[in-house]
Amino acid sequence: TDSKLPKVGTTIFSTMSQLAAEHGAVNLGQGFPDFEVPARLVDELERAMRAGHNQYAPMTGIPTLRTAIANKTERVYGHRPDADSEVTVTSGATEALFNAIHAVVRAGDEVIVLDPAYDSYDPAIELAGARAVHVALDPRSFAVDWAAVRAAVTPRTRMLIVNTPHNPSGAMFSAGDIDALQALLDDHPGIRLLSDEVYEHIVFDGARHESALRHPALRERAFVVSSFGKTYHCTGWKLGYCIAPPALSAEFRKVHQYNVFCTFAPAQHAFAAMLDAEPEHYEQLGAFYEAKRDRFREQLSGTRLQPLPVAGGYFQLVDYSAVSDLDDAAFCRWLTVEHGVAAIPLSPFYAQPPPGQRLARLCFAKNDATLDAAIERLRTL
Ligand code: PMP
Ligand code: GLN
Repeated sequence: TDSKLPKVGTTIFSTMSQLAAEHGAVNLGQGFPDFEVPARLVDELERAMRAGHNQYAPMTGIPTLRTAIANKTERVYGHRPDADSEVTVTSGATEALFNAIHAVVRAGDEVIVLDPAYDSYDPAIELAGARAVHVALDPRSFAVDWAAVRAAVTPRTRMLIVNTPHNPSGAMFSAGDIDALQALLDDHPGIRLLSDEVYEHIVFDGARHESALRHPALRERAFVVSSFGKTYHCTGWKLGYCIAPPALSAEFRKVHQYNVFCTFAPAQHAFAAMLDAEPEHYEQLGAFYEAKRDRFREQLSGTRLQPLPVAGGYFQLVDYSAVSDLDDAAFCRWLTVEHGVAAIPLSPFYAQPPPGQRLARLCFAKNDATLDAAIERLRTL
């Protein structure tokens, strides 16, 4: 067989979006906003294209955007990465995650992944000829069991992947998590950290996002990945970036150079303008989504779905055990087909789903009218 990924099929996000479309369901499955991007960003994009920025950008990203990312990072996390040697613009976070893994993970290595985990990590690890070692988060709080992570480390462990705020649970790292992570990496200096922080600005209740970039002992061995798709409501533009120390960035760029070479140039110009001109956009993003979260949770209290806590990101987990005994994949299909609301099951985020888990993920990055329509249907469950 030619297949290097025999177990991989179509992602659950594509599958549920297609099912939602076929059945005219309100799509709270795949994570994407259904409202517009900031008007200024569209103006800047148009201006960039009309100004002739339509050819290859520099391989690492245009200098003004890398500088704007460095400015933003300093403003938010109090640490300024070097725009030339530490910041690389990528085609979404997905490309950055793939590059980081392929830059340092070799055949026969192990990479620790905390389940439930975003679906792109495992295939990238497998394509590198390495093995993903899965450590489960707590099935209810989604807290990290650091003793279990420690126990999973072997001489082959090359990388640990973390994600805060977390997809699908909305859990966030605390200061205690950072201490435990730092202690672990201190004891194992050969392990590289891949920190997926795509929801870095979507944090609630006054909590602080514990970016690896805040902590010198973490950032000196980390690839930190973010996505403009999440921050600027434009998941379809596929633009993101990776911040890593010069030696790691140099390896990262070797993969990026021959993976895509450079990313969509006009959007780089648009974000360069936007980041410096309107820092309010990302500074107010948490409050913007917190209002959506609160309104949606209030509405869910009128249904038989039990919402779990959400500290950050734009997903709400619900326990549906009062409604159905179906497993999560079957429940989400049934909800989409019979009740017209698409949701995402959690089992695809696991190597080994916890038996009997009855949780589904709903995306609340939606207009009030969309959420109202979904709630009206969910009330009939
Ligand atoms: N990581 C996580 C945790 C995500 O939720 C997503 C988007 N769903 C990505 C990475 C990929 O981001 P992008 O669309 O920028 O490639
Ligand atoms: N990250 C999005 C989610 O979790 C989906 C991205 C995709 O469709 N590949 O819903």
